[in-house]
Amino acid sequence: MDLPYIEPYKIKTVESIQLSTPEQRKKWIEEASYNLFKLNSDQVIIDLITDSGTGSMSDKQWSEVMLGDESYAGSRSFLKLEKTVKDLTGFTHFIPTHQGRAAENVLFSALVKEGDFIPGNAHFDTTKGHIEYRKASAVDCTIDEAFDIAIDHPFKGNIDLQKLEAILQKYPKGKIPFVLMTITCNSAGGQPVSIENMRAVRALCNQYEIGFYIDAARFAENAYFIKTREEEFAEYSIKEIVKEIFSLADGMTMSAKKDGLVNMGGFIALNDPKVYESCSTFAIMYEGFVTYGGMSGRDMGALAQGLLEGVEFDYLESRIQQTAYLGKRLDAFDIPVLKPFGGHAVYIDAAKFVPEIPKEEYQAQSLAIELYIVAGIRGVEIGALLADRDPVTRENRFPKLEMVRLAIPRRTYTLSHMEYVAVAIKKVFDTRKEAKRGYSIKWEAPIMRHFTVQLEKN
Ligand SMILES: *Cc1c(COP(=O)(O)O)cnc(C)c1O
Repeated sequence: MDLPYIEPYKIKTVESIQLSTPEQRKKWIEEASYNLFKLNSDQVIIDLITDSGTGSMSDKQWSEVMLGDESYAGSRSFLKLEKTVKDLTGFTHFIPTHQGRAAENVLFSALVKEGDFIPGNAHFDTTKGHIEYRKASAVDCTIDEAFDIAIDHPFKGNIDLQKLEAILQKYPKGKIPFVLMTITCNSAGGQPVSIENMRAVRALCNQYEIGFYIDAARFAENAYFIKTREEEFAEYSIKEIVKEIFSLADGMTMSAKKDGLVNMGGFIALNDPKVYESCSTFAIMYEGFVTYGGMSGRDMGALAQGLLEGVEFDYLESRIQQTAYLGKRLDAFDIPVLKPFGGHAVYIDAAKFVPEIPKEEYQAQSLAIELYIVAGIRGVEIGALLADRDPVTRENRFPKLEMVRLAIPRRTYTLSHMEYVAVAIKKVFDTRKEAKRGYSIKWEAPIMRHFTVQLEKN
């Protein structure tokens, strides 16, 4: 008999959760115009709105906070972080930034110009934003399997090589500065990319003489999936896999709020000294001097330690198994969920969950609100509200999938919290046929409406 997975840590500090009643939550969500982003965190029991910057630091990371060297130039904390990143990734140059999108801003300032094309697997929102802001285009070359929730494929984050090669052939040299691979692929449900796929992309980049960069926010979770799903690497350590991944690329941008196990931070690491020089100039303009780049010394120290803890196999296994535990519990209740389960979140198929609610009345948002009222759980809508209006016709866009994402913060909740979430969702599932009406928009901003939208109940 196999022993169950446990969290490989025990609790030294606790943060209390404010409990509340459905009646209180009904009033609060109405006051928040049915927008979950407008709730105060004390009005939430289990907060699954994002896994970004919401994890817990270890005792060793908090020790680094005390050891932080706040010197403007050349601080010990910077040197510690620089050494850790170089050892872990093999890249030769390193620049800290205040978070992931800042790393994108600095790197793209150096490499992306108007009229360029940046192919990759489904780019993250801020990545796409920074590309489009420069009047360049992000081209999604993700494999088709990624968008069919019923298909079980071990590496749904992979790039379709034929789609990629077609893009490389279509545009003249000089129009494609690099291919950008996001690991794991956040926009495709936290699905991993295989090393086999990365090698093939590298070969194409070599053939067409273009760069290959990695958006590495969840590189350690991706390495765990490689170890457990890609035969060649079954006996490799996570650190060895991480080295192998980055050896294939010219550089990376990192949101340390994910696999860096810190609440704020980011960086760029790369090999080309010319690109480093150019990035340094932009880093100084946008972020700060190159030995702090928008981070405090104490935060750089905590990140150096967090990166090491983030690639420990036992930590990663409990992280991924916790996500899978929630997914499997929901699956056992016949609740429609995206499979295979990704690294950082479980996605509920809201269109199947509340089929009686018309899609024009925001199925996923309706489900997310109900889950909040019933159990105080805050997920996030990935559906028509997020998809927004067509910028030209101003018509509402209805995406293929209406989903509620439950993102799981790192080392923050226990299995018993996951059990609470699973049972709460089952409770909502049992009364789903009664849900016939959704919500209408009372007010919305011209762009990025989901953050501030005001809704009314139909
Ligand atoms: C979070 C994230 C970013 C942006 O990072 P921030 O730290 O939020 O600025 C970029 N890419 C991916 C894949 C992410 O998940």
